[in-house]
Amino acid sequence: MSAQRGSKSKVYLLRLYDGSTDEIAACLELLLDKSGVGGIATTGETVALKMHFGESPETGHVKPRFIRRIVSWFQHRGTRPFLTDTNTLYRGSRADSVDHIRTAVEHGFTLSAVGAPVIIADGLRGTTEAKIQFEGKLLSEASFGHEFLKADSLLSVAHFKGHELSGFGGALKNVGMGCASRTGKLEQHSTTRPYVRASCIACGICSPWCPVGAISVREQAVIDDKTCIGCAECVVVCPAGAIGIRWDETADIFQMKMVEYVKAIASVRRGRIGYINFITDVHPLCDCYGTKKHAIVRDVGVVASLDPVAIDQASYDLVNEAPVAPGAELSDVYRRGSDKFRDLHPDVDPTVQLRYGEELGIGSRDYELIEIAESARSSAG
Ligand code: SF4
Ligand code: SF4
Repeated sequence: MSAQRGSKSKVYLLRLYDGSTDEIAACLELLLDKSGVGGIATTGETVALKMHFGESPETGHVKPRFIRRIVSWFQHRGTRPFLTDTNTLYRGSRADSVDHIRTAVEHGFTLSAVGAPVIIADGLRGTTEAKIQFEGKLLSEASFGHEFLKADSLLSVAHFKGHELSGFGGALKNVGMGCASRTGKLEQHSTTRPYVRASCIACGICSPWCPVGAISVREQAVIDDKTCIGCAECVVVCPAGAIGIRWDETADIFQMKMVEYVKAIASVRRGRIGYINFITDVHPLCDCYGTKKHAIVRDVGVVASLDPVAIDQASYDLVNEAPVAPGAELSDVYRRGSDKFRDLHPDVDPTVQLRYGEELGIGSRDYELIEIAESARSSAG
């Protein structure tokens, strides 16, 4: 949805009170009703639920029992939801549709469990795409998984967490990067360049993860800059933290391209996109990293909005306000009240995506947080 610059957007919060996510599952229908997010589709139409099925069962991805509730809400209103995502650049368990659907099924996203089928949006090998022409500052064309443009409406169901390239990942990243085809992902990553630090222990873990074979390992890992496509997977998988990114302007440009992709799809899906962020299991890194990390804060709850900038701004604020979780990988600097995401990823300014989203007119950082009252929740479920 396009929000007028300077206007306050509504973000609805289903807060987690007692530490149990069961109540959240029971109240998701209420959140869809109150937020207006459920209004993106009408009877007979298809709804693409943009998911992340998790790289391993241990990541913080949104779990099937929540998706079941969302699916059933849409089905009761005569719409036809399906679960979808695009294939990854890297060689994990979701690099093509065969492995991707198998992974989704292994993680419980079966038709019988969630009530909706999985359709991978960019085809067997991530090459089935559709392009949108638009006017951005950096880009004028965006490449998406084909089915995102064929579905009648799009619901982003994002797991809000830290991210090594964008500081945090929420609605803007789930749509901007997550709906992009392989071509689109490459375009967004094109200025990202990693380097190997002296602390490399030559374990070799990074090499097989690299999708283009750019890493060779002898006494130390060596990255061939000419071959590297900037996907940053090596940064995430290195157990020694020995791969860094040459930041200079690249972090900002990465985020700006990602946000331009949101602008592109929003331009052809006016009033047909909704956003839900699960602020639970808020890990330091993205879910593509298939190992569970300690959450940085206690679970906050779930937010919904028609504005992708407002929902991410609200999620970012809620995490920064939330109590630190036991075992969190945060420094003492944070504990005195600074930005948790900046603390996790000091080289990345995560507000770039929010500021640029507002500048492009796809949403507002000024939001009204509306909490779903306990009285309304007690009658739900
Ligand atoms: S994973 Fe890290 S430590 Fe291991 S070889 Fe690669 S850069 Fe070196
Ligand atoms: S070397 Fe480049 S292409 Fe290979 S994993 Fe690292 S960032 Fe990706």
